[in-house]
This record gives sequence, C-alpha cells and structure tokens, in this order.
Amino acid sequence: MRANPFFEEWQTPFAAPPFDRIAPEHFRPAYERALSDHAGEIAEIANAETAPTFENTILALEDSGRLLAKVELVFGNLAASHTNEKIQEIERDMAPILAKHWNEIHLNARLFKRIDTLMTAAPSLGLDNESRRVLERYHLDFVRAGAKLAGEKRARYAAIIEELASLGTTFGQNVLADEQAFVLPLKESELAGVPEFAREAAAETAKERGLSAPFAVTTSRSSVEPILQFADNRELREKIFKAWTARGDNANPHNNGALIAKMVKLRAERAKLLGYPTFADYKLADTMAKTPQTARALLDKVWAPAKKRAQEEAKALQDVITEEGGNFELAAWDWRYYTEKLRKARYDLDEEEIKPYFQLEKMIAAAFDTAHRLFGLDFSERKDIPLYHPDVRVWEVTRNGAHVGLFYGDYFARASKRGGAWMSSFRDQENFVRPVTPLIVNTCNFPKGEPALLSFDEARTLFHEFGHGLHGLLSQVRYPRLSGTNVAQDFVELPSQIFEHWLEEPQVLEKFAVHAETGKPIPKSLIEKLNAARNFNQGFATVEFLASAFVDLDYHALEDPGMLDVSAFQEASLARIGMPKEIVMRHASPHFLHVFTGDSYSAGYYSYMWSEVLDADGFEAFKEKKDAFDPATAKRLHDYVYSAGGTRDFAEAYRLFRGRDPSIEPLLEGRGLAA
Ligand SMILES: [Zn+2]
Repeated sequence: MRANPFFEEWQTPFAAPPFDRIAPEHFRPAYERALSDHAGEIAEIANAETAPTFENTILALEDSGRLLAKVELVFGNLAASHTNEKIQEIERDMAPILAKHWNEIHLNARLFKRIDTLMTAAPSLGLDNESRRVLERYHLDFVRAGAKLAGEKRARYAAIIEELASLGTTFGQNVLADEQAFVLPLKESELAGVPEFAREAAAETAKERGLSAPFAVTTSRSSVEPILQFADNRELREKIFKAWTARGDNANPHNNGALIAKMVKLRAERAKLLGYPTFADYKLADTMAKTPQTARALLDKVWAPAKKRAQEEAKALQDVITEEGGNFELAAWDWRYYTEKLRKARYDLDEEEIKPYFQLEKMIAAAFDTAHRLFGLDFSERKDIPLYHPDVRVWEVTRNGAHVGLFYGDYFARASKRGGAWMSSFRDQENFVRPVTPLIVNTCNFPKGEPALLSFDEARTLFHEFGHGLHGLLSQVRYPRLSGTNVAQDFVELPSQIFEHWLEEPQVLEKFAVHAETGKPIPKSLIEKLNAARNFNQGFATVEFLASAFVDLDYHALEDPGMLDVSAFQEASLARIGMPKEIVMRHASPHFLHVFTGDSYSAGYYSYMWSEVLDADGFEAFKEKKDAFDPATAKRLHDYVYSAGGTRDFAEAYRLFRGRDPSIEPLLEGRGLAA
C-alpha cells in the first residue's frame, strides 16, 4: 500500500488535503491511529497528578484529537458528496465506533471532575471572556453528553448514543440508495412544455447516468422541479412527484419508517436520562429559543397567515385549471405547473425569460463581489490544489493581500452526492497554539449546462451556502470549540440567510445578472417584475417549510413515544395544523435528512424561521441607512456575527450588531404575510 497521507504533514499549498493521494483504503488505518492517539491524549489529561488548570485541562483538550479531526472532516465530506460502496461501508462501521469513542471521553469521570472543578472555580481563575466562554462550553458539552450520569444509567446512555449514530448513518444511506435507484429515461415527445435549459440539464443527466435515452430525470430537486413547473404531461408530473416524495418510503430494504420510530424512541429515552421531559426540551435548552414552547409560538404566529395565503393561492390555481377546461382538482404535482402559468399571466414573468440571466459562473462572481464590498475579501481561483472530483473548484481567499483561507465550490449534482445543499469544512479557523486558516466547502446540486444556468431559487441557495461559507472563512477566534459555525442551532442560519438579501439588490443584479447569450444586463423592467412577484407563492413556500418544522417538533415533544407508526404520526401531526391537501411537507419524515441523519437539526428545523426573524430584522439595518453596503453596518455585522463564532451569548451578539432586540415584523413583511 502507498504511504498513508493521513500520517504525514500535508505539503500541498496551505496544507490542503492531498486528494490526489487519498484513497478509501487509507481511512480505516487513519481512523484507527487517530482514535488511539486521541484516547492516549485524553488519558494523560484525565489522569494527571497535578491539580486541574485551564491550561492542563481545557487547552489540552482543545489541542487534542488533531489527527481525528483531520480524518473525520475529509471522510465526512467525501461520504456526503462523492461516496461509493467502500466509503459507505466504512461509514457504517465507523458510526458506532466513533460514538463509543466520544462516549468514553464524555463519560470519563476523572476528566469531568477536572472540568467541573475548574467550572466551580471559574470566577477566580482570571480568565478573559473567550477563555471563560470555552470553559463554560466544555462543561455544558460534557453535562449534556451525560457526564453527570452514573452506574446503569451511564451504560444505558452510552448504548443509546451508539445506536443512534448507526441509525442516523443508515438513514442517510437509505435516502441516497433510493435517489441512486430512480432514474426516469424520457423521450423528446414526453418533454412538451419543458424549456430548453431544462432539456439540456435532462440530457446531461441521461449522459451522466450512461443511458441511451436522450433525456432523463432523477429525484434531485433541481432535476424534478423544472418538470413539475413546465411539463404539460400531467401523468409525467405525477410520476416524478411521487418518486421524489417517496424517497426513503418505498417498499424496499431502504424504507426508513421503522428506523425513524426507533430514533424517536431512543431520543426520548436519552432526554429522560438527562432529566428533561422530552427530547425537544433537552435539545432546545442549548439554543436561543430555550424551550420548545417558544419555538412553537413563533411557528404558530406565522402559520395562520401563511395557511390563509396558501388557500387563496390554491383557489387561484384551481381557477386557472377550470378556465383551461381542466376537469380535475388541483393536486400536489400540479401546484408548480399552474403557479408558473399564473406567474406569467399576473406578472408577465416567466422562468424561461429569467433563467438565462442567472449563470452559475456569474452568480459565484456576484457572491464574491458582495463579500468584497461588505468585508473586503478577494477571491482568486487556484489550479494547483488537489481536488476530489473534476467538477470541484477552489479559490484562495485574501483580505488586503493577506491569506484568509480556501473556498471550495462543488456545485453540480451527481449520483455519488447526497441531495440538498450545505456548507462544511476540511479545517476550521483557530488561533491559540498557532494561527490556523480555514478550508471551507460549499456543496450544491445544480444542473449542468453550457453555460450552467440557475433558477432564481437556486441562485438564492448559492448565496445562502456562501453566507455559511463566510461564517467559516471570516471566523477570528482563538479556540476551535468556538470557531465559525460552532454556534447555537437557531443562530447558525443568520449569516447564511442574511446574505441572501444581497442577491435581490438591484446593483448586484444589474452587474451580474447578464444574459447568457446576449451578454446584456438584466433589464430594469425585469427586475421590477421580479420584485413585484417577490411574494408570489409565499403561502406555499411558508406552509411547506412550517409543516416540516411542526412535524419535527411533534416527534420530539413526545414524553413516551413507544414504537410509532411513522406515517400515521406524520398524518395526525399535519391534520392538527390543518395542512392544505395540495401541499406536502418540504421534507417528509422518510427523507428528512436534517432531522434524522444526525443531531444538528433534530428538534431544530424551526431554527431556519428563528434565524429568519434575525436576518429579516438585521437586513433592515442596511435599509435604514439606505445603503445595502453601508460600511459601519457591515463592520458591525462582521465583528459581532460573521467573525465572532461562539465567543459570546447569541442574543447579546445580535444586540451588539443591531443595537436592539429583533422584531418579527420584517419577517412577516418580507414574506408578504403582514396583517
Ligand atoms: Zn443553511
């Protein structure tokens, strides 16, 4: 076997992962050594004869597990964005081993005793704010991971965590298996109504999947949505819609139903062991919302006007069907198709006209330019850094000529990639042993094309993920535990969502939304039409989001769930809120990756809405200055949000940026739902 690259210092530029030398067979030995190194470091910290100090305990913990982090970040990214059978097998095998490893750390009584002693002595340790914060954070992490449990409870807790880790991994692999299994070859004649850009993408898909048919559609959102929007063939729309919404819910070995029931039950038991009535109470105790009641109250406030609006929208769509002489009731697979027609009729706006203005390349440039104007960043593409797939690109990020980090963009859909869009990293910023610069990744599932074109929503996704990317890139903290996106679950969408607002700025659009063929900038009249249509279909968008958020909270608000019948539970949960029958959840339970592949968004899908209160209110700060790039406001946003990581309380961070607490009105207005 070739030398294992994980056992060397990386000699690549900026010590970026040497993907040209990393192979699946390197991961098991790398994990093995990383786990054993880390266990050794932990034992040394825990068993030290000397009295605990901030340095010999907290800083030593922060400086431990270096190899493990290196292996995990590379492996985790590949498992999500360019996987194969070998990687999937390692992923399944490692999930319980890693969970066990962390359990042994969090449940190490000697180690916790040292942390607890420091916590009690904290006021007299003479720590600066950030050091005090990292100590508190460690203490809380350990308590929340069961450090105060003893005896049988401790053993049971460890077993639950390990089982949950395996179940979460299987959940994600099941969804991917269904996504890989479904590909629908299509003939030219079946694509009536589908515009050129979507045909090109469908042709690319057929090619990528090695089919002889000229076109094909998969269950990737960017593949499905154009068909639902444009295909005149109602049966085709129904077929694709059903395949898309059935991911993880098919009568095959990848069905996630029983797995969800098990996870919900185990999570409830886990919360009980820790002294919380429900998993949602446990999970939200460490967020801005603090309690499930507060989170739900926000959802409730938005639900009533959203549902009312969605019902008006449904009626308008039914009218179009009837006027056309259609003798059927509006169904979920009709919604986007008739919405597109109505949008054209009402606002003289059609996707085919808009789309050529949103070239992927130009939207990347727009995101970079916005980051430059707000925060002084510059981006230059590098060709000398190894990548894990030919479609991936990497840019060096600098500020005033000084290196800030690397930004990887992995934009196109492929069969080896999980659905959705996300930000992750190969290395996070820190600065306590020595300065470490971040390696940040954005992964999306956009369709290919010559040139690649985005819908307005996809361009918004690009800005969203780039906002998360900036949160990682701009991080200027000392400790890894507080770095970048290591913040409360309902604060983490603020940097991403507020960044979306700049995509709508006329000065950004005029410069970067240029026509793919003519090179002409988007006409003012078209921008005006886009603005006029901004809140069109917001009832639908808000309802499909909120439905997922309610169901997520409902699962985790159960004190004693037993083994749920998942589809009956979801149905009852939706019935309780009076879900309009023509709309489905944005993510139904069997493929709700946010909530069931791990814990980052479990009982936490609401947090997008929570963060939206902040981003809508926060962007008002720029509007009040009548300048979307107002330097003083941008500086506060940089200092207290983008660069601050988890160094202070998040409500306080927001107040420092905004000068006051957020108000919900801008969110309702932004969605066109204000009274
Ligand atoms: Zn996000």
